[in-house]
Amino acid sequence: RDPNVKKPAWLRQKAPQGERFSQIKESISQLKLNTVCEEAQCPNIGECWNGGDDGIATATIMVLGDTCTRGCRFCAVKTSINPAPPDPMEPENTAKAIASWGVDYIVITSVDRDDIPDGGSGHFAQTVKAMKNIKPEIMVECLTSDFRGDLKAVETLVHSGLDVFAHNIETVKRLQRIVRDPRAGYEQSLAVLNHAKQSKEGMITKSSIMLGLGESDDEVKETMMDLRAINVDILTLGQYLQPTPLHLTVKEYVTPEKFDFWKEYGESIGFRYVASGPLVRSSYRAGELFVQTMVR
Ligand code: SF4
Ligand code: SF4
Repeated sequence: RDPNVKKPAWLRQKAPQGERFSQIKESISQLKLNTVCEEAQCPNIGECWNGGDDGIATATIMVLGDTCTRGCRFCAVKTSINPAPPDPMEPENTAKAIASWGVDYIVITSVDRDDIPDGGSGHFAQTVKAMKNIKPEIMVECLTSDFRGDLKAVETLVHSGLDVFAHNIETVKRLQRIVRDPRAGYEQSLAVLNHAKQSKEGMITKSSIMLGLGESDDEVKETMMDLRAINVDILTLGQYLQPTPLHLTVKEYVTPEKFDFWKEYGESIGFRYVASGPLVRSSYRAGELFVQTMVR
């Protein structure tokens, strides 16, 4: 963190509680499963697992291992050019485990796997199919890499039966090279989201922008406009937080009021739902957001 920028009080975490939260926590620890929610010590765990007013509990899990082939400067995930090959039993086993948790909405995400020919798209698709097979009523969002711009890989996943295709553009155009691995890029991310939308009628797409990396308001607006131009339905905006001193410093702590402004602005330009707040993460209350999006 830039020593000149002090962390404000609104980023303090609340201890999670609630009946549904406790039930899910209990069942997850019995199954010895790892959720991103717990491993990342996500501040939203109480809200996501309890499911809010609509009672739609959301959790996030990661497939394809814990080691990424890329190295983005905002992300603390382990990296290697040669991670362990994917476990062929993972799709089935993950689906079985999730089905027994009692969550209504699952976000499946992964590290980037540039070492696998389809970038892991087939593995994602198998996981979704297994999931829907075992528990058809569960809603599934996949938060994916850009598959290096491989549009066939995008299609494989779009036709797997998932409910939401999510891919994060992460930041404004000017900061892409500073923030993301050089293999990622603004146009490539837009192309992936566009292709997901075009490949299947009614496909819901979603993206996310981190704020506080030095972007201007006009640049944020431009990014939002570019996402709207390809009909992205759902947008989340959250504060960038520096995971370790080796990562990019925070340039600004954006106020809660400013996040409210972005929600209003985003919905005014046609996003069907915008979640915007200092602690909002891409999968923040994703199930509730999806349900709200469908009734709007
Ligand atoms: Fe889990 Fe995502 Fe919610 Fe955090 S924001 S608790 S990672 S579902
Ligand atoms: Fe982290 Fe994703 Fe970048 Fe890999 S590609 S370093 S998991 S943000």
